[in-house]
Amino acid sequence: MCGGCVRLACFAMATRFEILLEGEDPARLRAAGEEALAEIESLDRRLSRFRPDSDVSRINAHAATGPVKVEPRLFRLLERAQEISDLTDGAFDVTIGPLMSLWGFAGEGRVPSRDEIESALKVVGARNLILYEPSFTVAFRSPGMGIDLGAIGKGCAIDAAVECLREAGICRALVHGGTSTVYGIGRWEVGIGAARLEPVSGAQALHRVRLADSALSVSAVYGRSFERDGRRFGHVIDPRTGEPVSHTKRAAVWGPSATDCDALSTALLVLGESWLPELKARFAGYEGLVSG
Ligand code: AMP
Ligand code: MG
Repeated sequence: MCGGCVRLACFAMATRFEILLEGEDPARLRAAGEEALAEIESLDRRLSRFRPDSDVSRINAHAATGPVKVEPRLFRLLERAQEISDLTDGAFDVTIGPLMSLWGFAGEGRVPSRDEIESALKVVGARNLILYEPSFTVAFRSPGMGIDLGAIGKGCAIDAAVECLREAGICRALVHGGTSTVYGIGRWEVGIGAARLEPVSGAQALHRVRLADSALSVSAVYGRSFERDGRRFGHVIDPRTGEPVSHTKRAAVWGPSATDCDALSTALLVLGESWLPELKARFAGYEGLVSG
């Protein structure tokens, strides 16, 4: 802690979240920051598909046999995920779960056969997720489906933390998750580094983005990856082919919502540079860049 500046962190969603708060009263900043971190930890407990007791695990275990009731924030997140799938022509898709399992990204990784990929692709598709608003329930259209919020959960957690900080009257803070998605309350300058996003003024930044009550997210092919026979396979999968993306190395999107930036940087990685004009046309207030 320095005068008028508090830095807090927690581990959630397999990454380190950090909140940097600036203001007059360090005790008040710390209290607000701790509440925001608790919100992130609570979302981690609900959204992680690696926790057997999370809402996402409950959906994955039971939604093929009947509707599963979820709390409103998760329901809204799934609704937004479905809209983003439509608006990205299916490049962003939270029903990617069976393909992630097939490629073994939770473990050491493996290269599946084309037949295995084809049969997994049959159940992948955001429209196979049935969201029923009157009862806040989620159901799968077919067995074998699975959701994975790895490309949107961090953004959602950051937006929830920001909401919490605003309610506590915080007017200057930076919240980031694993230095891949960041939100700035007030004005900040953030650098996109070679491998990750860095809240720096640093000369090493490849590109700088000015945040003003807005977010930035970076997706990288090799954020998580494995190598087989001299080829490297990255953890972002093109839901149209079932194969890991390799044509683009890194994509960044900035705009008003961390949730949308997170999902859209993943989509932009899949769709490549030629989709940038569509990003701007379909998502007002959002911009992006692609490298490699
Ligand atoms: P990100 O680092 O935000 O780009 O998210 C990558 C993570 O999202 C992966 O580790 C998977 O859990 C999941 N994922 C992979 N491909 C996709 C996709 N096309 N659409 C949505 N989620 C995906
Ligand atoms: Mg993402």
